[in-house]
Amino acid sequence: MSSIPQQARDQAQRLLDFVDNSPSPWHAVASIESTLLAHGFARLEEDEPWRLSPGNAYYVCRDASSIIAFRVGAEAQAGMGFTIVGAHTDSPGLRLKPNTAFSSDGLARLGVEVYGGPILATFADRDLSLAGRVNLRTDEGFESRLVRFDQALARLPNLAIHMNREVNEQGLKLHKQNELPLILTFADNAGDAVAAFKGLLADRLGVDAGRILNWELNAYDTQKGTFWGAHQEFIADSQLDNLASCHAAITALVETHEPRLTAMCALFDHEEVGSESTAGAGGSFIADVIARIALSLGWGQESQLTALARSFFISADMAHAYHPNFPNAYEPAHKVMVNAGPVIKINANQRYSSNADTAARFMMLCEKAGVPYQQYAHRTDLGCGSTIGPIIASSLGISSVDVGCPMWAMHSIRESAGVLDHQAMIAVLRQAFAG
Ligand SMILES: [Zn+2]
Repeated sequence: MSSIPQQARDQAQRLLDFVDNSPSPWHAVASIESTLLAHGFARLEEDEPWRLSPGNAYYVCRDASSIIAFRVGAEAQAGMGFTIVGAHTDSPGLRLKPNTAFSSDGLARLGVEVYGGPILATFADRDLSLAGRVNLRTDEGFESRLVRFDQALARLPNLAIHMNREVNEQGLKLHKQNELPLILTFADNAGDAVAAFKGLLADRLGVDAGRILNWELNAYDTQKGTFWGAHQEFIADSQLDNLASCHAAITALVETHEPRLTAMCALFDHEEVGSESTAGAGGSFIADVIARIALSLGWGQESQLTALARSFFISADMAHAYHPNFPNAYEPAHKVMVNAGPVIKINANQRYSSNADTAARFMMLCEKAGVPYQQYAHRTDLGCGSTIGPIIASSLGISSVDVGCPMWAMHSIRESAGVLDHQAMIAVLRQAFAG
């Protein structure tokens, strides 16, 4: 492990830069969009007609937080299939409420909702800031603007151990309504608290506070991603679940120039809250995009259904690496290790979409790409998480496999993974797209 190839280090650094530039799902989509534009992808709008050509590359966004990018197969005859890699742009955490700023005991705090299933204790004592989107009044109506504060702005300080003597035995428990509001500043009354918060937004956006209509804002960790370990063989950052898979998928796609089948990345918001939304994997986005590609290329319905039957969906989401301090949390015969290669996730109850055929197909891709792989099954006596894999597999009827890079501390604000695994995932996804 002492020799991590420079190429793997460079890929991991690009991943950390991508995560650090993507503190919200809207920023993640904007970062991905700039990568795609730099590689010659053309933007499509859902409310305009599409005219696609074989060999060319395109992308389309929905609600600014989900994005589907694809390169039409070089020989995209009627009925040729799709190779699709799916992942999610959202991460669990804290979201500001609509009337977020309030005052009590001379302090202005920000009320938050819990988005998805974060490890709440990890949000304490971090240098938090805010990122997301804000709607501003215009003469014609309103416009949406991305906003991000770079400096630490808000905080959730721990209660001192002198008032919480059992914290190391009982764990840090936070009451979601009462004990999660973030401290922002001093304020004597509600009006001052609101003015302080809106003033920050207005200053950051360079607009009059009266133009601010509403917002969707995350608390995010301002600490940048880092390498760690005796040989710098590990990485740590926020949102590795699942921005690491988004980055691997997009990197593989932009390096794919003449795919036989249409190569596609489908990156969805709202996975952490069940995917049932306009932009989520449970919505119509991917089915609509596939239908419109078929229509634009002049395929009939028969050819579209043939194409789905010839397609393959790789659901890429992070996997649970073995943690030696907690051996009892793992299935003893399925310990997946960091830096030992992508993980194929299997669950008989279809919480993961893999079956023996699709898993074998992924194994073949790994072998062709010269990449090791591992197989994961959850403990039988623990409930298994799920992914967008079963949702897409069931709605489109596409053969599907669930895979992901092993990581520690899933849903912590500071997650960890391996330098080698990220490069290996890019290599196997590139192999999948090449066909
Ligand atoms: Zn995930």
